[in-house]
Amino acid sequence: MQLSCRPVLWQLRHPFRIATGMRTHTQAVLTEIRLGDTVGYGEASMPPYYGETHETATAFLEQVKAVLQKESAPFSTAAIMETIDAIAPGHHAAKASVDIALHDLWGKLEDRPVWQLLGAEPARMIPTSFTLGIDTPEVLREKLAEAAEFQILKVKLGTSDDKAIIRTVREISDKPIYADANQGWNDPEAALDLIHWLAEQNVCLIEQPTPKDDLDAAAWIAERSPLPVIADESFQRLQALDRVKEAFHGVNIKLMKCTGLGEGLRIVRAAREQGLKVMIGCMTESSCGIMAAAALAPYCDFADIDGCWLIGNNPFDMPTLSEGCIELNARPGLGLTNTLQAGH
Ligand code: MG
Repeated sequence: MQLSCRPVLWQLRHPFRIATGMRTHTQAVLTEIRLGDTVGYGEASMPPYYGETHETATAFLEQVKAVLQKESAPFSTAAIMETIDAIAPGHHAAKASVDIALHDLWGKLEDRPVWQLLGAEPARMIPTSFTLGIDTPEVLREKLAEAAEFQILKVKLGTSDDKAIIRTVREISDKPIYADANQGWNDPEAALDLIHWLAEQNVCLIEQPTPKDDLDAAAWIAERSPLPVIADESFQRLQALDRVKEAFHGVNIKLMKCTGLGEGLRIVRAAREQGLKVMIGCMTESSCGIMAAAALAPYCDFADIDGCWLIGNNPFDMPTLSEGCIELNARPGLGLTNTLQAGH
């Protein structure tokens, strides 16, 4: 198999502000794995806080190229990914791009959709939330109009005036809200008071209330919280599950954190065994990463896989939404269309 990749910049439709910073674009890499005339597509999306860049990803994928040249088919994806994982620690998004491209290629060669390879049932698809960054009331209004098709909103909190943000959203919409503090709440008691208030505003979950390494504070809040508290920045890969399972009610799986679909599915299973809730999330990603995440969503309790609606230069066609759910189509692989635009 032949791997090629190229760096791209996902341009955000609106500057994206969260508790830990603001950005207008995200570095990403589009990865292609070719076998004969068939091409599998993958993607690495790399927000600055996880340390991967165009340079680190392309250098790592150079090493992956040599591994894949010795492999004749993508069917033993799990074994191939184990070899690739062992090349070097880290590089989670770059590894995810390989895992996603291998799954897309595998599905295309067998004429089966990726969700079917994973054993997922489209009938169990859950609605995805649409994310609102921290903004002025005027911009929030504009974004809410863009989010009309979505049934759930995700609202970024962790500011000094979180109640005002929720009140503004509530003036415009009564849709259920997933609240994400992005580590922004440093005082657990104040956070708990706020969570009680949020529960009265039809907020249904809290993501990452406290700094990622402060598991004691997270555990204190989770024990008393009327809403499920979900680990995001505190949790990346499967091996970290034991560390966070006592401090949160659930984990947010993102393919870019956990190296792809293979490990993502293993996390789902392990989290279920521990009685944990499972959320599937994303970075700002094209339809490629989003359709891969969507293939896991039927296994999850909550989905926040709206990344391709947040960027302005998605090279693939947008996923189809049906009653706020991403449709898992019957096309082989990830079911992406308009891939010519994404290719060379
Ligand atoms: Mg989050």
